[in-house]
Amino acid sequence: MNKITNHMPTAELQALDAAHHMHPFTAGAELAKAGARVITSADGVMLTDSEGKTLLDAMAGLWCVNIGYGRNELAEAAARQMRELPYYNTFFMTTHVPVIALSAKLAELAPEGFNNVFYAGSGSEANDTNIRMVRHYWSAKGQPEKKIIISRKNGYHGSTLGGASLGGMIPMHQQGGLPIPDIHHIDQPNWWAEGGDMSPEDFGLERARQLEAAINHYGEDKIAAFIAEPVQGAGGVIVPPETYWPEIQRICDAHDILLIADEVICGFGRTGNWFGSTTYNIKPHIMTIAKGLSSGYAPIGGSLVCDEVADVINNAGDFNHGYTYSGHPVSAAVALENLRILEEEGIVDTVRDETAPYLKEKWEALTDHPLIGQASISGMMASVAMTPHKESRAAFKTSGALGYYCRTRCFDNGLVMRHVGDRMIISPPLVIKKDEIDTLMDRAVKSLDETY
Ligand code: PLP
Repeated sequence: MNKITNHMPTAELQALDAAHHMHPFTAGAELAKAGARVITSADGVMLTDSEGKTLLDAMAGLWCVNIGYGRNELAEAAARQMRELPYYNTFFMTTHVPVIALSAKLAELAPEGFNNVFYAGSGSEANDTNIRMVRHYWSAKGQPEKKIIISRKNGYHGSTLGGASLGGMIPMHQQGGLPIPDIHHIDQPNWWAEGGDMSPEDFGLERARQLEAAINHYGEDKIAAFIAEPVQGAGGVIVPPETYWPEIQRICDAHDILLIADEVICGFGRTGNWFGSTTYNIKPHIMTIAKGLSSGYAPIGGSLVCDEVADVINNAGDFNHGYTYSGHPVSAAVALENLRILEEEGIVDTVRDETAPYLKEKWEALTDHPLIGQASISGMMASVAMTPHKESRAAFKTSGALGYYCRTRCFDNGLVMRHVGDRMIISPPLVIKKDEIDTLMDRAVKSLDETY
């Protein structure tokens, strides 16, 4: 077979791809007909495809390329580490310098009292860790019956059996017989779609109090933890009403259950602070991290664990859990370099103080568009809800078809936006500049106009 390169005709690359590559969250037969878009290179916030077309990547890949594409320092860090020590594990009393350095750095960046990290290869794996860790924690404290984990419908916590079970995505549950036992889902705080006549504030309280109702239903001696994303990402960038998180916090504190903040998207600057928990004043026991930890340049995830939980786990004998790539040295070196760039270049501060407020003003003005009912934004993640009738917040009967159409209009207009049903969402690289935000907005408005 000839060497397969960027220079081959797109149709040939697409045919080979469809013949041999099974894609995540994709209908294979459709892919074979349409062909996948072949991305060949990227720089800053821009992607280039095999046809030479450039696209502004308003999704930062999959919500992860926080420092933008093309940072040579990360390539150098990976190459250096590969030459020095490409792999060693962290099982059975061994360690290495990159993982020591990364752990110490994370302890410095995390909120007070978070001095411990358990590594995984991804966010999904980290959430699998969390399931086992919180159950093991209660077991070690003499309460093995505290096993149930409460999470939310339309939440996303990954694609492994554990992650997808914690998640509340019905189509995922339907394939593979999920959820696993002892996971209970409450409703999401999506006021636009589900709030009816209630004010957002009352609705936020009502949805939070479903957690208390579930705890009372099972008994708090049966509940291990509640897990949620500070802002639901894959569910459609659902920014909760202001009343929601304070009430959730009150309930978790009152009922002696652990709180897991899934920071896989919200972490590392996305909401304008290092962690979404800081933005929403959440005091979790465990934070799931991945994506922005390495800006997607190398696969890595983990659980940031508070001292109280880590002390119990560390003193309960072997924690019989871990992955071959827990604390992978190359990923750790890349993540460390990524954190250095985020910190030294003041990227999180720039998001909070300059670019996110600039985007917010423009994004919220989208509600003047005849298709847009609601615009939500938290730092550098945002969504708009398309509706046929703003007043009643009605949904389109063709559920999702318009969103899909708008997304294809975006592609044609040189913009990668994603759709969740009829919500259009963005999560651009945190390094996006004001003039690039202008370009993003121009292309988004043009695409919405063409969808209307
Ligand atoms: N948790 C959240 C909040 C996510 O958004 C994702 C992925 O989008 C995950 C977990 C799973 O992470 P991964 O895809 O790295 O397994």
